[in-house]
Amino acid sequence: MKKLRVESGKKVNLAKIDANASPDYDGDKKEGKEELLRLNEKLEALQELLYAEHKHKVLVVLQAMDTGGKDGVIRHVFEGVNPQGVRVASFKVPTAEELDHDYLWRVHKQVPGKGEIVIFNRSHYEDVLVVRVHKLVSQKVWSRRFEQINRFERMLAEEGVTILKFFLHIDKEEQKARLQARLDEPEKLWKFKPGDLKERDLWDQYTQAYEDVLNKTSTPWAPWYVIPANKKWYRNLAIARIMIETLENLKMEFPRPDFDPKTIEIV
Ligand code: ADP
Repeated sequence: MKKLRVESGKKVNLAKIDANASPDYDGDKKEGKEELLRLNEKLEALQELLYAEHKHKVLVVLQAMDTGGKDGVIRHVFEGVNPQGVRVASFKVPTAEELDHDYLWRVHKQVPGKGEIVIFNRSHYEDVLVVRVHKLVSQKVWSRRFEQINRFERMLAEEGVTILKFFLHIDKEEQKARLQARLDEPEKLWKFKPGDLKERDLWDQYTQAYEDVLNKTSTPWAPWYVIPANKKWYRNLAIARIMIETLENLKMEFPRPDFDPKTIEIV
C-alpha cells in the first residue's frame, strides 16, 4: 500500500492518478469484498487492543470531492468495531461561535484521547479547500495555514496521536454518475442538494486546492494517502489494509495485570 502514500515534498498531479485503478490488488470485486470482511474482523480485534492498552490515539482524516465516498468508508471499513472506542467527528459550515475562534479551535476539541479512534468526516483541511475556492478568507490568510497545519499535526503526533489522512480520489465522470444516481433512486434522493452542482462547476479549482494540500501537508508524522475511489470495493479494501498495517506497527499489547489470576478464587 506504500504506492498510495504521498511522500513528503513530492508533487502530486491528480490527473495522472487513475481513479479506476486498484494498485496492489489482483482480485476482482467479489474477492475484494470477501477480503474486506476478513479485514473487518482484524480491525475489530486491533481496535479492541487499542482500547484495552489505553496508550495510543488514532486520528483518521477523510477528505474527498462531493460523492467521493466518505460515508461509505465510515460504514464499510469500520463495520463491526466497538462503538465505545470509535467516534466520528463531522465538520460542517462553522457556527458563529466557531467562526469567532481560530480555525483549529473546533478541530482540536475533537482529537482522539488514549485508546480512541476518531474519524474526521471533513476536517481542518476545509479551511484551505472550500475556504480558498470560495474566497472566504484572503490568500495571505489561507496560504500560511499549510505550515500551521503541519505544526499542529506534528504537535499531536509528538503527543502520541497516530495520524492517517485519506483523500478519496474519484474522477469527474464518476461524480456525474453518482449525482445522477442520487436523482434517479428514491432512497438516494435525500443526499442530493442542488448546490452540489455549483460545487461541481468548481471542480478544477478544487483539484488545484487538493493538489496543494497533498503537496504541502503530507509529512512523515501525518502522511496523506491518495485512494483510487471510483471502485467502492477497492477504496474500502485499501483503507482497511492501511489501517491494519498502521495499527499492527504500533506493537500494542494487552495490559498486564498486577496480580496472578491463578491465585484468585471466585466463590
Ligand atoms: P457532507 O458533504 O460532508 O456529507 P454536508 O452536506 O453537511 O456534509 O456538507 C458540509 C459542508 O460544510 C460542506 O459543503 C463543506 O464544504 C462545508 N464546510 C466544512 N468546513 C467548512 C469551513 N471551515 N468553512 C466553510 N465551509 C465548510
